[in-house]
Amino acid sequence: NSVFAHVVRAPEDPILGVTVAYNKDTSPMKVNLGVGAYRTEEGKPLVLNVVRRAEQMLVNDTSRVKEYLPITGLADFNKRSAELIFGAESPALQENRVTTVQCLSGTGSLRIGAEFLARHYDEHTIYIPQPTWGNHPKVFTLAGLSVKYYRYYDPATRGLDFQGLLDDLAAAPAGAIVLLHACAHNPTGVDPTIDQWEKIRQLMRSKGLLPFFDSAYQGFASGNLDADAQSVRMFVADGGECLVAQSYAKNMGLYGERVGALSIACKDRDVSSKVESQLKLVIRPMYSNPPIHGASIVATILKDRKMYDEWTVELKAMADRIISMRQQLFDTMQARGTPGDWSHIIKQIGMFTFTGLNAEQVSFMTREYHIYMTSDGRISMAGLSSRTVPHLADAMHAAVT
Ligand code: PMP
Repeated sequence: NSVFAHVVRAPEDPILGVTVAYNKDTSPMKVNLGVGAYRTEEGKPLVLNVVRRAEQMLVNDTSRVKEYLPITGLADFNKRSAELIFGAESPALQENRVTTVQCLSGTGSLRIGAEFLARHYDEHTIYIPQPTWGNHPKVFTLAGLSVKYYRYYDPATRGLDFQGLLDDLAAAPAGAIVLLHACAHNPTGVDPTIDQWEKIRQLMRSKGLLPFFDSAYQGFASGNLDADAQSVRMFVADGGECLVAQSYAKNMGLYGERVGALSIACKDRDVSSKVESQLKLVIRPMYSNPPIHGASIVATILKDRKMYDEWTVELKAMADRIISMRQQLFDTMQARGTPGDWSHIIKQIGMFTFTGLNAEQVSFMTREYHIYMTSDGRISMAGLSSRTVPHLADAMHAAVT
């Protein structure tokens, strides 16, 4: 008899499990709108041309070896990643008060940041938006933080519950950590305006709340890397401290390469170097040091002006295709005369539309139309194409009528 005989089967991950179910479906009509990965008009995964070129350069460079990276990762990658999110001219970078470490994509960056806070920060409560990416509460809880929610989304307006958000943050204990989606909030596609960000900043700074930004979609929301970093830059410009987890999964299409970075902006250079020394102690017993390939791709592109420009063009094309899918879906539903106000489809931004469909309607669409999505009614617009939009519109129409 197995010593593991008592182990009970765990449920599938609520997001990745959607793909598991999709893969089992043999219908030619099936569409996977569950996982947030970009697809072309033809429904195929996309490797950016500039990424292919960077990889070719890396392969051709026979001076490259496979030695271990330092615990903190590739230095060029860290420097360029910090410039990408904070802005190359950022005073915080010029003052050397930011430490950046290469981590395993966005998830790993969040986890390292959370482990560091659990060890070295007094307040262990982290406020996360209601709703948020499903992995957030698990990452923070397992790191030893205590998770609480702040109001974020108002189902009645399908927009931001701004007053609820302010009230909940105002009621948080001084020093509490607050998780903020830098842009393209997942799953709602609803972001604060710049004015609202400014009010959030003032409130958080006046209460000494510690911002922890999750930046998984820089460039994907608007198509512009600087515009999508505005929220983070506002919080760095005031001289205060914050954490930022960056992912290159979406904006460079490097999903499986697991490339990301954690930056901690500190009060001054001395604090930041001590913080970095402690980050190393967090990382070393977890995975020793990060992988070299993906970070080398990113560094190659970010260092070369021409490749960087090429990237921004390819990134904008992805963002634009997503925006055009929103318009097509909205127009098709208008043409069908689907009851209800669906303008949120074109108002929300980023990879996802939070449709407002309930779990029962979602399971109807999966059963009858072979459309796969998370049970909260979130659909990945990046998984849609002109060919599949009419089918989705039919399914949504049938689900609500
Ligand atoms: N944060 C958010 C809000 C996300 O949507 C994702 C990806 N779905 C991540 C972090 C992390 O992704 P990854 O670890 O693949 O970079």
